[in-house]
Amino acid sequence: MKQAMQKYIPYGRQCIEEEDIAAVVDVLRSDWLTTGPKVAEFEWAFAGTVGAQYAVALSSGTAALHAAVHALGLGPGDEAITTPYTFAATANCLLLEGARPVFADVCESDLNIDPAGVRRIIDAKYRGESGTLRNRETGGVLRAIIPVHFAGCPAEMDELAAIAREHNLIIIEDASHALGAKYENNSIGSCSHSRLACFSTHPVKHIATGEGGLLVTNDEEIAARARRFRNHGITTDARERAGRQRAWYYEMTDLGLNYRLTDIQCALGLAQLPRLGRFLKRRAEIADKYYRQLGDVAAIILPGYRRENAHAWHLFVMRLRLEALSVGRDEFFSQMREMGIGVNVHYIPVHLHPYYRRRFGTKPGDFPVAEAAFAAAITLPLFPLMTDDEVDYVVNCVRKLVTRYSG
Ligand SMILES: *Cc1c(COP(=O)(O)O)cnc(C)c1O
Repeated sequence: MKQAMQKYIPYGRQCIEEEDIAAVVDVLRSDWLTTGPKVAEFEWAFAGTVGAQYAVALSSGTAALHAAVHALGLGPGDEAITTPYTFAATANCLLLEGARPVFADVCESDLNIDPAGVRRIIDAKYRGESGTLRNRETGGVLRAIIPVHFAGCPAEMDELAAIAREHNLIIIEDASHALGAKYENNSIGSCSHSRLACFSTHPVKHIATGEGGLLVTNDEEIAARARRFRNHGITTDARERAGRQRAWYYEMTDLGLNYRLTDIQCALGLAQLPRLGRFLKRRAEIADKYYRQLGDVAAIILPGYRRENAHAWHLFVMRLRLEALSVGRDEFFSQMREMGIGVNVHYIPVHLHPYYRRRFGTKPGDFPVAEAAFAAAITLPLFPLMTDDEVDYVVNCVRKLVTRYSG
């Protein structure tokens, strides 16, 4: 084994080729570095890829989530149920608009929000009152559910959509992990079960624009509101105004931010998008190798998913069976890092972050499935440029540590 020459293997990284560089350089030589033609081109291409009518490019996935909450008009007095097993931005987007996240625990198998848990929270915390659900404690009204397709594995959208229909709730998909995933035959992002979906184009995600995000929807009004929100709540942008008589005139109709994605970034995204199919195929091959080469290791749990869905394999999160090992996750993690493997931990449950504890009084024990997963989780490297040798090396290191600490 070429262990000695092994270079550090990160858990994820972008795949940049000459055509990406050329596309970015072209924009640098053009008239528009931002708010130019590449933005709409990228939006059209992205919408086409996921099967949505509209896509709005924003400066990050977090900005896309924030725009979503704003465009839906969620604010003070509104609540949304989401998963604690995610990146904090999923829940933070509500707080940014004055709305309140309420967590529901995840399924043990795939670590996605558990629809049965959502029903239990609704029954326990809310009472029906003239067509709305009102929180008995806070007085807030439940308006939305925000599932995350964890690691690229689609959440149980049929069941979530049934709950949403029953109680008149909106579904916002945090699809940051799920570009290219399918729920049964529905492409994630086609909004077959939701009002809108948000993606991220951070370099560890499926395609890279540096920073970046997209809000996709089939609702024209929501797309228009998100477009205004990314541009200070202003109705038209500079390029649209250029040909008009009073070209200086604009109206700010709403409060917004500068959440624009530049043409430089959109050109990079446009150059990457045609290779998404290849990226996904390689991600699936690597995941498959992990299943084949680690499937017999009794002391670890490999991710569960339903084969009728297409998994996008953003992350490969294995879990240690801590009761079968004489080592904890943190020591296992350190030793993997020492062997040059950039393992990671996804995620510290959101309700355990100091900010959430302080503000909402959440604490360990609140969401036992998410907390147990967190205590045992190790994210193995997975990205399109990862070589078979690198996968084999990661597998060998996992097996070596498991053997060392078994029995
Ligand atoms: C990456 C990510 C985001 C936001 O992404 P940024 O583009 O980094 O702002 C939101 N939610 C989840 C679950 C993510 O993984």
